[in-house]
Amino acid sequence: MRIKRGDNIIVISGKDRGKQGKIIKVLTKEQGVIVENINLKKKHRRPKTGGKKGEKIEVPRSIPVSTVALICKNCGKPTRAGRQILPDGKKVRICKKCGLET
Ligand SMILES: [Zn+2]
Repeated sequence: MRIKRGDNIIVISGKDRGKQGKIIKVLTKEQGVIVENINLKKKHRRPKTGGKKGEKIEVPRSIPVSTVALICKNCGKPTRAGRQILPDGKKVRICKKCGLET
C-alpha cells in the first residue's frame, strides 16, 4: 500500500467525504485504514467493577483504503503517490502533482 501511518488523507467517498485526518493504523490484509476522527462508532465500555456505570466511547473504525486520497505534505493537495527509485537504489514515494518526495 502507498499509504502509511502518520499520513494525512482526505476521504473521497462515503459519508465522511471531504473530511481530513491522520492515519492511525494501516490494515494491510483488509486493505483498510483507521483514520483519527473518521468513521466513529459508539462503543459501550463495560464497567470494570460492579455498581459503576458503563461509559460510551467513540472509536474510529477502519474504512477502505480506496476511499481515501493522500494529501501531499509539500503542495497540500490530494494526490496519487508514485514511486521513484533514486540513483543509490533507495525507493521514495513521490507526489504526482508536484513531483516532490512525500
Ligand atoms: Zn505535492
